[in-house]
Amino acid sequence: MKEKVAVLMLLPQCNMTCNYCVIENTFSSFTDLEAQNLLLQLKDQNYTNVILGGGEPTLWSGNVFELAKFAKSLGFFVQIGTNGINLPQNYEKNQDIDRWIIPLDSNRPEIHNKLRHFKNEHFNIIEDVLKKLSTQNKSVYISTVLTQINKNHLIEMVTYLNQYNEFSSNLKSWNLYRLLPFGRGGLKHFDNLKLPIEEFDQIVQTIKNSVRNFKVTIRRNMYDSSNVDFFTFHNGKVQKLEKRPLNHETTQKN
Ligand code: SF4
Repeated sequence: MKEKVAVLMLLPQCNMTCNYCVIENTFSSFTDLEAQNLLLQLKDQNYTNVILGGGEPTLWSGNVFELAKFAKSLGFFVQIGTNGINLPQNYEKNQDIDRWIIPLDSNRPEIHNKLRHFKNEHFNIIEDVLKKLSTQNKSVYISTVLTQINKNHLIEMVTYLNQYNEFSSNLKSWNLYRLLPFGRGGLKHFDNLKLPIEEFDQIVQTIKNSVRNFKVTIRRNMYDSSNVDFFTFHNGKVQKLEKRPLNHETTQKN
């Protein structure tokens, strides 16, 4: 049976402005208490795995690392999805986080930084985060959104990640996301950045055939995954987001 995964979107705010950000500005920030209560309810509902995310969870007014500790004490497998900009000292030694989900859209700094905007230096920040997490052998998932801008360089990124993992072996999955026409970035930039589904499938198949020592996870539509649910705080209460199928084309669920 597939594990039940809950994504807590703790706040919408972020310190980046990625071109394809699917986060909406329409929800509010959880309070500490609301987030803890939600974790207790998720436990009762047999969720096994939580992802602490946003927006950017390290900007949350509660302390995301304290929330991770609480989630761990309840027995969850705890993941954090972060852009790595605002991490505290010694984060790589944190014992409550079982997996780090880190964005990287190209092994070429200029391409990554063209999609992920933070003072033109986000690529260097991510390289540093990966280095630190590898020193502690912390499990990492890398997430990449496939677009018109990075599509021609993804095969060379396989070599980059294969080499990284030969040395480090803490990269467990490369998650390949399809751009979605949602949120503050995705909706605006969809027409310029989107890949037709056939091209997306062709690229991910080539990648799958080339990776060596980590898995590849395909996310054609992250908001329509059968075992992953997203939770926000809106109008004074917790809301579980409706699944959002892409009706205008055939998609395979994942
Ligand atoms: S996609 Fe970019 S802008 Fe959106 S939440 Fe993630 S890091 Fe922030």
